[in-house]
Amino acid sequence: MHDNYTAIREEVAKLCQQYPGEYWRGKDRERAYPTEFVTALGDAGYLAALIPEEFGGAGLPISGAAAILEEIQKQGCNGGACHAQMYIMGTLLRHGSDTQKATYLPKIANGELRLQAFGVTEPTSGTDTLALRTTAKLDGDHYVVNGQKIWTSRIEHSDLLLLLARTTPRDEAVKKTDGLSVFLVNVNDALGHGLTIRPIETMMNHSTTEVFFEDMRVPAANLIGEEGQGFIYILSGMNAERLLIAAECIGDAKWFIDKATNYAKERVLFGRPIGQNQGVQFPIARAYAQMRAAELLVHEGLRKYEAGENCGEEANMSKLLAADASWAAGEACVQTHGGFGFAAEYDIERKFRETRLYQVAPISTNMILSFVAEHVLGLPRSY
Ligand SMILES: Cc1cc2nc3c(=O)[nH]c(=O)nc-3n(C[C@H](O)[C@H](O)[C@H](O)COP(=O)(O)OP(=O)(O)OC[C@H]3O[C@@H](n4cnc5c(N)ncnc54)[C@H](O)[C@@H]3O)c2cc1C
Repeated sequence: MHDNYTAIREEVAKLCQQYPGEYWRGKDRERAYPTEFVTALGDAGYLAALIPEEFGGAGLPISGAAAILEEIQKQGCNGGACHAQMYIMGTLLRHGSDTQKATYLPKIANGELRLQAFGVTEPTSGTDTLALRTTAKLDGDHYVVNGQKIWTSRIEHSDLLLLLARTTPRDEAVKKTDGLSVFLVNVNDALGHGLTIRPIETMMNHSTTEVFFEDMRVPAANLIGEEGQGFIYILSGMNAERLLIAAECIGDAKWFIDKATNYAKERVLFGRPIGQNQGVQFPIARAYAQMRAAELLVHEGLRKYEAGENCGEEANMSKLLAADASWAAGEACVQTHGGFGFAAEYDIERKFRETRLYQVAPISTNMILSFVAEHVLGLPRSY
């Protein structure tokens, strides 16, 4: 991590200030995609942060992307509308062919193509990715895809979908982790030709959907890397995803702590600011301590990632602790505001709903604890 990205953070903050609470409340009420915000971020080059300069991106290391996403959340905006573009990219960057990179990366970098959708989770397999049932069968120079995904977020606002599907039946795979493959699907070509999208209404505004594939044809040229190695490719991107989501949670926590602190200083009851009462101070102070500890672990994870070291432990634990910190900060913020914490115009209830997601997605708390228990502490494998 070469610096704290102060200049980038300031620029991102300035951009975010053009999209105040009122903007997000409107989108939340209508469950509408924040197209203007995402376009502005793309135009300013932030969504291409991780694309190498030779392909038109900023070529920043992952800590740069983390700084951008943290700042977006800290300003009260919602990076969930576009964060996947940062981490999905890694699969294409690391495992795509030269032709694929030359075809897609410059267009993603200049905003012509949006790579915002990631189709891994299925209704029956959930967290058990190796049990997924969507199949892709080679037929001439195309793969024919059949199956279903769930929680495929932002696909209605994306030109490309990174799809994980089974190319070898599970019982025929040599290794347990073999047999899944990654494809880059052109959403516009596929819509109405085997691809159906059905939006899911959720607790917060997240543009998530169910996706159905019926004989959807994907050119074989859109297979990423080697057939059958897709699970490994997806896994290799997960540490990056966890660190970036953790950075977002840190941003959320900072937003909540700031709101709570300011309100606790201003709200006067019984002749003194409510923040003078330790019962009000302590939950905010505790959330701050939790946030700082998680932030340090995020930085350590980013450092290890950039040094090419194994950061699995830090990536997982920082996601766990940062999501806990943002939740604790959200809870303290609602409580400090009393009844006003529930009023939409304060934005707290909206952020409270938004940050709750990160205890479940992209990886739920139990699965992280299970990783730590087994891979860090050497406890017996539980599943
Ligand atoms: C709003 C939203 C957006 C999402 N976006 C995407 C996306 O864009 N692309 C995508 O592919 N997926 C996406 N997801 C899916 C998300 O990654 C999954 O919801 C998450 O991984 C959990 O899977 P699941 O919902 O099937 O829960 P399940 O796997 O059914 O698990 C249910 C509960 O059981 C627990 N559990 C399961 N097995 C164990 C075990 N062995 N030990 C202990 N506890 C266990 C889990 O921790 C969880 O609490 C999204 C989800 C949501 C809600």
